[in-house]
Amino acid sequence: MAKISINIKEATIEKRELIAGIDLGTTNSLIAFVNKETGLAETVKEDGKNSLVPSIVHFESPDKVIVGSAARHYLVTDPQNTIYSVKRLLGKSYKDVKEFEGYFGYKIIDEDTEQLVKIRVGNSFYSPIELSSFILKELRHRAESVLNAEVRKVVITVPAYFNDSQRQATRDAGKLAGLEVLRIINEPTAASLAYGIGLDPQEEKTIAVYDLGGGTFDISILKIQNGIFEVLSTNGDTFLGGDDFDRAIVDYWLEHNHVSKDTLHTDKSLSQSLRLQAEEAKIHLSNHDFYSGKHDSLQCNISKAVFEQLTLPLVEKTIAAILRALSDAKLTSDLIETIVMVGGATRIPLVKNTVAAFFGKPVNDSLNPDEVVALGAAIQADVLAGNQKDILLLDVTPLSLGIETIGDLMDVIIPRNSKIPTSAARQYTTSVDGQKNLKIAVYQGERDVVKDNRKLAEFILSGIPAMPAGFPKIEISFILNADGILKVKAKELRSGLEQSIDIKPQYGLTDAEVEQMLLDSIVHAKDDMKIRSLLEAKTEANQVLLAAEKFIKKNAELLSAEEAAGMQALMTALKQATASDDKDLIQVKMDELNEYSRPFAHKVMDAVIGEAMKGKKV
Ligand code: AMP
Repeated sequence: MAKISINIKEATIEKRELIAGIDLGTTNSLIAFVNKETGLAETVKEDGKNSLVPSIVHFESPDKVIVGSAARHYLVTDPQNTIYSVKRLLGKSYKDVKEFEGYFGYKIIDEDTEQLVKIRVGNSFYSPIELSSFILKELRHRAESVLNAEVRKVVITVPAYFNDSQRQATRDAGKLAGLEVLRIINEPTAASLAYGIGLDPQEEKTIAVYDLGGGTFDISILKIQNGIFEVLSTNGDTFLGGDDFDRAIVDYWLEHNHVSKDTLHTDKSLSQSLRLQAEEAKIHLSNHDFYSGKHDSLQCNISKAVFEQLTLPLVEKTIAAILRALSDAKLTSDLIETIVMVGGATRIPLVKNTVAAFFGKPVNDSLNPDEVVALGAAIQADVLAGNQKDILLLDVTPLSLGIETIGDLMDVIIPRNSKIPTSAARQYTTSVDGQKNLKIAVYQGERDVVKDNRKLAEFILSGIPAMPAGFPKIEISFILNADGILKVKAKELRSGLEQSIDIKPQYGLTDAEVEQMLLDSIVHAKDDMKIRSLLEAKTEANQVLLAAEKFIKKNAELLSAEEAAGMQALMTALKQATASDDKDLIQVKMDELNEYSRPFAHKVMDAVIGEAMKGKKV
């Protein structure tokens, strides 16, 4: 009888843990890791081929979410429920994105507020953080299933120009996807690491990273010294990329077929499918001299020479941006020692050749330009995992430090993993008219609701001169010195009133406790985000209700009985909604009230202006 051997060891082995690098892109996203056997960075490829995951999220229903290439064709068939380019909205308020609203095929909530934007899909509302987390989850899932490993810790890249709020939003998206974000690094830094530039602490270099993606163009000038990447300047165009090259081809085809451009405005589906075909033509022309095709009755031909002639102005725009970046860095093109090419559109020969000619030297393009950022992120992740022994981690704060804000929420002022010494400040204001005292409660931890974090101290800034709510400007600064001692200062900027306190954040916390707190924050990330968005919606609803009540009282004579009753009914509905735990319902009711009261606000404005004009000649 033949013996069967069972490999018990194999069967009980735990999945290995991988620390990955993620490029969360506007058009495409990727995940990469350092292969332990070869020591080289690799991207995770589906079916061994495709490493790109299109940054597209499609909602069939709130519970059925599709991400990546499977979501792509819904751009044509179901644009309202298909979200793309969400990176453009990360960490932004509606005011920030208002002028670009026409660019998006989906619904951005048009409240004129400084709150972070939300996107409406059916009757649900999603923040760009939630939407990005769907993409991150997909990447994580892909890596875990392809590599049969567990991915918990990641490094995520962001553009060098991302501000604090955009970086924080990226971090939160990671957290929501159940990931521990070890570090957020700049995309150009990652791209240089992928080429091995900056890994040697002795190396000193000035480099340019030219990144032409699907929809954005960034040029960054970096100085590398002692293993530190300093961004000397950045420039670019947030609405210039491979898509514009596609659009140039579409326009050319329309003209040749005598079809008006307006057709595309009315026929969104034709517009999208023609664009996809133009992209195919553009990619073809990177290696061939001619593209020929058909689209229904339209002839879709184009030669490389015509393509280059049509798109030269786009490439020239990027050169103008390089000149601005060089001038900001107080450098000339000959002082740039290395040029790194990033982004799929740098495969276009005209782009590559024009940039090389501008700098008068060959560009670094041996790596896949779609993958370099993710590869570099994986290298950084490997360094953080301690696998590259000669690179030392600097002292960092193990947990985030922040204060309690309205709704019992934690507002992080110094994020965890910040190098120390460090300092940061943020401005706050009062929420009640005539408020004289402000309680400042300092917390440490990663959870969104303060009661789940560790309270370090509390003090009261008293004696604020009486002012209307929202008027005082209170700057709270955190200064964390090299010994880990935190000084918290609160200053009312209008009156100069100031108070401060010294705290020792690490005091009394063992390593195991710090670890547990981090673990909790990951385990509870999803619940926390839900609670946070619910609390935020409730706080916002209460403010809207307060404002509406004030408005009715003040302008009673301008509203008809019917209008006042209409407003009251919507206010009651909103009050009832705030008593529930349904964030989307609160949002819907808030929208309804805002929508209903908007014309009255205009009426009041007109009355005020009318009053002011009385007796004046115009
Ligand atoms: P990224 O955002 O970096 O993934 O860049 C995507 C852009 O690169 C899209 O506009 C693609 O059409 C474009 N792209 C990808 N491959 C090629 C190629 N071989 N030639 C020209 N453009 C390309």
